[in-house]
Amino acid sequence: MRFDAIVVGAGFSGMYMLHRLRGLGLSVRVFEAGDGVGGTWYWNRYPGARCDVESMEYSFSFDRELEQEWEWSERYASQPEILRYAEHVADRFDLRRDITFGTRVTGAAYDEADHLWRVETDGGERVAARWLITAVGCLSAARVPDFPGASTFGGASLHTGRWPHEGVDFSGLRVAVIGTGSSGIQSIPVIADQAEHVTVFQRTPNFSVPAHNRPLTPEYQNQVKADYPDLRRQMRESMTGLLGAAGTVPALEVTQEERTREFEARWARGGIPFLGAFTDIAVDPRANELAAEFVRGKIREIVSDARTAELLMPRDHPIGSKRICVDTGYFATYNRPDVTLVDVRSDPIEEITPTGVRTAAAHHEVDVIVYATGFDAMTGPLLRLGITGRGGLSLKRKWEAGPRTYLGLMSAGFPNLFTITGPGSPSVLSNMIVSIEQHVDWIADCVAWLHERGVTAIDADPQAEKNWTAHVDEVSRFTLYPQANSWYMGANIPGKPRVFMPYVGGVGAYRLKCDQVAADGYEGFLLSS
Ligand code: FAD
Ligand code: NAP
Repeated sequence: MRFDAIVVGAGFSGMYMLHRLRGLGLSVRVFEAGDGVGGTWYWNRYPGARCDVESMEYSFSFDRELEQEWEWSERYASQPEILRYAEHVADRFDLRRDITFGTRVTGAAYDEADHLWRVETDGGERVAARWLITAVGCLSAARVPDFPGASTFGGASLHTGRWPHEGVDFSGLRVAVIGTGSSGIQSIPVIADQAEHVTVFQRTPNFSVPAHNRPLTPEYQNQVKADYPDLRRQMRESMTGLLGAAGTVPALEVTQEERTREFEARWARGGIPFLGAFTDIAVDPRANELAAEFVRGKIREIVSDARTAELLMPRDHPIGSKRICVDTGYFATYNRPDVTLVDVRSDPIEEITPTGVRTAAAHHEVDVIVYATGFDAMTGPLLRLGITGRGGLSLKRKWEAGPRTYLGLMSAGFPNLFTITGPGSPSVLSNMIVSIEQHVDWIADCVAWLHERGVTAIDADPQAEKNWTAHVDEVSRFTLYPQANSWYMGANIPGKPRVFMPYVGGVGAYRLKCDQVAADGYEGFLLSS
């Protein structure tokens, strides 16, 4: 079968890409490994899963009616509500008829003679298209560490990113949760409410700020909807795609009282904008430490047991250098008598046994193990596609020392392959819907432009790619981000190259750059007919 375009993935990226390409009159086939749309929100059904961006901001802006008709019930939408939203978008734009569900793309090879991508799926399908667009997400390749004995465990082993659709009843069960990133921090308080006992295995404590989640009033929603054109513009031009994030003064230029007042106000408001309190938090270690110490002080206040509080205080990375967590009652959960914290740095996990988790110091008997251990982020889902480009070069080989892209949109040697929210673009450092819409619009406009001119192949110029990759690296070095062992750096996967993968220059500046490249006739790209 031959199509104009093949899109891999039917999360928000793939859905919007399909809609835009259809609008150009192209024939499109989307392949999605899951049995439904929604991507992240289809897979991550763990208890407590919800957005860390406010619902009114974490939504599509491309259709005025969609934006006006949809009603969010809470300040931070829960996973089921976001999944309903994704399903509503699929229905509204009649997307499902071009999506093949339950089908994984397992190979994609560029046919240089015909300027076509030849794609294979695990269902044995073979299809071809001029344009191949990956919408595989940055956080879709779930990762379970290789603990000895894991397969011998007699109870259920669950990963937060592959949660059973029927849900899990933890009543009366002893539960181990391994991992204290955002997924662990969101799920632990909810699991603790149900389970008989929860043992949390923590390797690195994380910074977390309260969500202060609440129902949204109709008045508030109407106000935001009336202001949407202006608010969306502000989001697009901002650093992170979020509203209300940016402070205007450096922490080091105000008094201690002013700093505390600002931190307290942001803590009381809740959410990611805490990090925007001052302009120097992401770049100056002294300013960063002031913000970090404020959060440690809150942990000290909330957690009654001083030793547990101390274990929960992050000290080995700057605040914000890993995605900050947004929680509901996380630290207070450790005041419960039925929740135990195990510090696996001083007491490492040695093996999983048929009945529990053995650390150096003890055996913890449990009925269920929840792996909140994250993802092979950003490059993981792309490299699993089995892509080979010009001259039989595989993407895996090309990215051996880390991803190399031009604008996070293309990689030289892989013509006509576009990567939505690819490494080298702001993606995971932003409100991702803002970044997704920008990439999809740019790609659709580019494809339309190429069609109008009869161009059959576009590729990144190796020199432009080299410059961009160096720029991504250089900008990250102005910040404190590279100091953390984060998944942004590939540090969570043994053997993965240590490279800061997303672009930290900000969504507003990045958009301007992409627009300029397009306005200049796709400068830095090589076109052929
Ligand atoms: P995804 O939603 O990841 O969709 C990719 C799809 O591609 C998946 O359905 C996958 O099955 C499919 N796929 C992958 N490989 C293949 C293949 N080989 N063949 C076929 N199909 C394939 N971002 C925010 O901005 N705010 C948040 O609050 C937020 N919360 C998050 C919470 C969790 C638990 C996680 C994991 C991520 C969160 N993110 C958040 C990031 C989130 O991934 C993005 O916001 C957004 O949903 C990404 O959409 P996407 O379509 O690009 O990718
Ligand atoms: P994560 O941030 O990578 O956290 C994984 C956790 O597992 C970390 O605490 C990690 O410890 C631990 N871990 C991994 N391997 C381990 C091992 N071998 N032994 C012990 N501990 C181990 O993954 P995540 O929590 O799923 O979140 C990933 C990203 O998804 C987030 O950063 C965020 O962008 C997004 N997300 C957002 C939300 C939201 O609030 N909306 C919710 C969930 C996810 P180390 O830190 O020591 O590696």
